[in-house]
Amino acid sequence: MNIILFGPPGAGKGTQAKLLQDEFSIPHLSTGDIFRAAIKNKTPLGVKVKSILDSGELVPDQTVVDLVADELSKDKYQDGYILDGFPRTVVQAEAFDSFLESNNDKLDAFILLSVPEEELIKRILSRGEGRSDDTEEKVKTRLQVYREETQPVMKHYEKQGKVQEIDGIGTIDEIFGRIKSALT
Ligand code: ADP
Repeated sequence: MNIILFGPPGAGKGTQAKLLQDEFSIPHLSTGDIFRAAIKNKTPLGVKVKSILDSGELVPDQTVVDLVADELSKDKYQDGYILDGFPRTVVQAEAFDSFLESNNDKLDAFILLSVPEEELIKRILSRGEGRSDDTEEKVKTRLQVYREETQPVMKHYEKQGKVQEIDGIGTIDEIFGRIKSALT
């Protein structure tokens, strides 16, 4: 099963992706986590993307697409995966479509986690993960980037009839229950 977990910053994608990973025994791939690990370990990729993540803007499409294609070719993803944070632009979505096609594979579900903007800001500013992009100013930038560059990705998958919208307000378990029912 190949799943895209989609939604604005602070919608709870990472939390729900981890629960899904345990429930369905398929790995979770978070592009944000990969970039943060690269920055922490000062790898060439980390050095390249640090200032971009700090600003709340997006890493260039080609860098992300190459990274994801490389990662998904690993054995552990052969029986499926949960994507979190990718695709984040229409260019990335088109590249992912081609990737699936060339691997004779397909997307099984596109789950949109819906949360109102005031709630997103509250959640991010109170989660205290110490992320350098979790300040009020950076959160505003990330939400604006989401509206302008990422939301159009939804329309891309609406055209394919794949989008399932899930109410992202409630307890972690309630939301997880909704996602599970959408997937079965
Ligand atoms: P959030 O959803 O809370 O904003 P992520 O962990 O998904 O956080 O992403 C953090 C940052 O990593 C983004 O603001 C962006 O700079 C970079 N990033 C992650 N995924 C992508 C992507 N698919 N394309 C471009 N940049 C990305």
